[in-house]
Amino acid sequence: MKNNIQGGEFLIKNQEALEIYIPEDISEEQEMFRSMTMDFLSKEVHPLREKIDKQSENPDLIPQLMHEAGKLGMLSASLPEEYGGMAVDFNTETFLSEDLGTSQSFSVAVAAHTGIGTLPFLYYGTEEQKKKYLPGLGDGSLKAAYCLTEPNSGSDALSAKTKAVLEGDNWVLNGGKMWITNGGFADIFTVFAQVDGDKFTAFIVERDTPGLTVGQEEVKLGIKGSSTCQVFLENVKIPKENLLGEIGKGHKIAFNVLNIGRFKLCAMVMGACKRSIDISIKYANERHQFGVPISSFGAIQQKIADMAIYTYATESATYRVSGLIQDKISSLVSDGMAKPQSKLIAAEEYSVECALLKVLGSESLDFVIDEAVQIFGGTGYSEEYPVASMYRDARINRIFEGTNEINRMLAVGQILKKAMKGKIDLMGPAMKIQDELMEIPDFSDEPNHILYQERKSVLQAKKAILMLAGAAAKKYMLELEKKQEILMNLADMLIHVFTAESTVLRTEKLVIKTGEESNEIQIDMTKCYVNYALEKTYLSGKHLLAELAEDDMLVMMHMGLKRFTKYPILNTLSLKKKIASKLIEKNTYY
Ligand SMILES: Cc1cc2nc3c(=O)[nH]c(=O)nc-3n(C[C@H](O)[C@H](O)[C@H](O)COP(=O)(O)OP(=O)(O)OC[C@H]3O[C@@H](n4cnc5c(N)ncnc54)[C@H](O)[C@@H]3O)c2cc1C
Repeated sequence: MKNNIQGGEFLIKNQEALEIYIPEDISEEQEMFRSMTMDFLSKEVHPLREKIDKQSENPDLIPQLMHEAGKLGMLSASLPEEYGGMAVDFNTETFLSEDLGTSQSFSVAVAAHTGIGTLPFLYYGTEEQKKKYLPGLGDGSLKAAYCLTEPNSGSDALSAKTKAVLEGDNWVLNGGKMWITNGGFADIFTVFAQVDGDKFTAFIVERDTPGLTVGQEEVKLGIKGSSTCQVFLENVKIPKENLLGEIGKGHKIAFNVLNIGRFKLCAMVMGACKRSIDISIKYANERHQFGVPISSFGAIQQKIADMAIYTYATESATYRVSGLIQDKISSLVSDGMAKPQSKLIAAEEYSVECALLKVLGSESLDFVIDEAVQIFGGTGYSEEYPVASMYRDARINRIFEGTNEINRMLAVGQILKKAMKGKIDLMGPAMKIQDELMEIPDFSDEPNHILYQERKSVLQAKKAILMLAGAAAKKYMLELEKKQEILMNLADMLIHVFTAESTVLRTEKLVIKTGEESNEIQIDMTKCYVNYALEKTYLSGKHLLAELAEDDMLVMMHMGLKRFTKYPILNTLSLKKKIASKLIEKNTYY
């Protein structure tokens, strides 16, 4: 495996199947780590779902479980050994996130603690700060919260009003934060505040500092077991050394830890997708109507297949990015960089992909869990079964870690910025496509392997994005960043094409390693996803075209769009029936 594409470059450069990381590359050691994690979650956490969700009656339950998880190393997996961590590699962290994602409110508490709660210390803390806090955060004796959002600054996080003033040897903080995960029990808070009015800066505030108070638990739609509170700061005096990072550089801390947060959110929701499919298949096999199991109905089979296809595709994209980040970390470390720093830089490099994954994962889960509720019928609406709470719990993922609108705009904006800075050459390939539109299409090449057509179609679809991004840039130039309706559609095209390509490459790699016969279901799922992705890419492209071109140019570009998103007619109904029947027979998600 080697990393030959930089962040955002997937649009203009292609990877080969053997170059990407796939979940089937898992090592024995990683398998052992996973089985320890799943053992803990299935024995200690899943059975307590109802109790956990009654958070006001059992406020200590999640912190206690976190402490137990800490003893097993689940909270310190990514921390360096010198602070008591396990220093596992990034791909192992991805497996851990996926497994954790099955545990609903508990997963939110752990993710906030180990991600946005702990990473600011690891990446930006002084040696003293790291020594003081990281061992406790890693073993679960300390819990962390991250205080960025305020009542009047959510997506517009940098407009926060909380103030910090230096008085002698102390910083004095005043203001209020909102929606703070783990707020009810956290020992340590990373608080973002303005110094001198506009120098956005991070500070460490310990819970028992006079002036820090925590509001009532929010009554939420979902993730009811997780603690979410307002945090008030009234003349909170902290020592000068509790400054985290540099004055005026808080935005770097706030946003850089979010890159990893977004990636891990996708890994976690994929775990939730798998659990949803698994319990849906088992239920569909057990539940009888009209004298037969409901899993024998074509309508239910199509749902199970779609749930599996989107999950397989999301998983393929997630592990591909995991591998890219891991390779980048390895190459930075071999150049002499410290591991935590290299992880930060690697995640920043692939921030476009992290933003795309966040949208992909959260929207896949919403689809999958919605279908799970439908398969369960009335039972899906009952609190007695986990699907009702899983349905509610899924919804937050489109809102936090940057809303999906913000992440869509971020992904496209960053690609355009990279192009303008000359980091990736978008204009060259976009110009070539203009020429290609005038040429007679070449139909001469011959299929030479099982997913040849899918690979070819996905590569062609990249041209559709380049054609439309080029037309948008030409029409609006610097104003393009304000044309949100265009950015949203471009982001959707990027998500579909990146995911389709990742799925094709993964299945190709599987076929190279273990042959066609043992990967039949993966091949069928790949074909169905490519078909779906190209249909969606065409639709988004059509909306864009109507806005970007007119008259002869519109006709010509529409022909180009059709050509670039072409895929032979596929009998998706029968393929999906085949996929579902295999899963139903196994009584579990593949
Ligand atoms: C359960 C929960 C836990 C949370 N945990 C934490 C935490 O631990 N720490 C923390 O700091 N925060 C946390 N948050 C806050 C979360 O990150 C914010 O809710 C989120 O960033 C959105 O901000 P907002 O709620 O103010 O919505 P707004 O920013 O007001 O957005 C409302 C709508 O407008 C859209 N919108 C906003 N700006 C734009 C724009 N420029 N262009 C187009 N559309 C736009 C949004 O996409 C959204 O659809 C949590 C929130 C919840 C609900």
